Amino acid sequence: MAAEKLEQGELVAIPTETVYGLAANGLNANAVLKIYEVKNRPQFNPLILHFPSVEQIEQLGLRFPPKARELAQVFSPGPLTYVIPANDKIPGIVTAGTGAVAVRIPSHPLTRQLLERLPFPLAAPSANISGSVSPTSAQHVQAQLGGKIAYILDGGPSEVGLESTIVSFLDEPPQLLRYGGITAEQIESIIGPL
Ligand code: AMP
Ligand code: MG
Repeated sequence: MAAEKLEQGELVAIPTETVYGLAANGLNANAVLKIYEVKNRPQFNPLILHFPSVEQIEQLGLRFPPKARELAQVFSPGPLTYVIPANDKIPGIVTAGTGAVAVRIPSHPLTRQLLERLPFPLAAPSANISGSVSPTSAQHVQAQLGGKIAYILDGGPSEVGLESTIVSFLDEPPQLLRYGGITAEQIESIIGPL
């Protein structure tokens, strides 16, 4: 059900280890636009694309830098997001016109299965109205967004409840853009100073 709805350009709430996400086909600008509308999210705030593996990121023609690869071997799947140069397959509404795209490999088993079945990555911010609390259960999503989205994939309560840590690889050294489930010390222990 979730896969069919996403293939049709509909919105589906998905469980991740951080919080529930509000997902759409990340390569379909019309589908992604619905995320902004339902969340009432300003369009200058770019979205994270979720992939099943580093291989799938590279299959889109994106360059995943060596230090990102080192981190991915340790922390992905998991709550770490990598900002890397975008390409023309990524809609401008995903990147907010920045020329860079944020990518992550989530660890929740149901969402991993879903991503492996789909021929596209999922754009997915938290499944809440902008400014309210991020949901950590399917019931919580239903209470905020039920009726506005096609389907809620119930994967039980989220484990981390914290957002993903975001690191940018656009410059050297890489830059920590947002604190989250993985600490700067954990990252620096693998790739050196940020
Ligand atoms: P979230 O609202 O938790 O899904 O995370 C989205 C956040 O990821 C944005 O508010 C930005 O802070 C960050 N982000 C997403 N895409 C980019 C990008 N292309 N460049 C820099 N930061 C990004
Ligand atoms: Mg959010």
